[in-house]
Amino acid sequence: MEYNANNVFAKIIRGEIPTDILYEDTYALAFKDINPKAPIHVLVIPKGMFTDYSDLMAHGSTEEIMGFFRAITKVVDKLNLEKNGYRLVFNTGTDSGQEVPHVHAHILAGGKLGIQLG
Ligand code: AMP
Repeated sequence: MEYNANNVFAKIIRGEIPTDILYEDTYALAFKDINPKAPIHVLVIPKGMFTDYSDLMAHGSTEEIMGFFRAITKVVDKLNLEKNGYRLVFNTGTDSGQEVPHVHAHILAGGKLGIQLG
């Protein structure tokens, strides 16, 4: 899939849409999900233009990939989620229901999470 720079997360990276930023560094940005599905629901996105997890892993540099995953851990630390746990989700492609075509990790936490995966 061709990357479409008009997607909402690309606009957030460019500062065109205001959002509640929790963490930012050279490689990634983290902000609260606008429609939370858990008491804590944060999205982490790499700043590079990758449509989904597969695209990032196939075409991202080692630096971009490591920077992105380290940013996820920074957010986990910042929110003190290590103790009680958390869930990471990458919706990828049509069957997953991925809505925004810029790769993003959902961090879900803050209480017992349901076990439904599909
Ligand atoms: P996905 O279904 O994995 O593509 O998830 C996209 C997520 O982005 C959903 O959970 C939305 O609630 C969230 N979302 C969409 N627009 C915004 C926005 N402007 N700020 C924060 N979260 C958003």
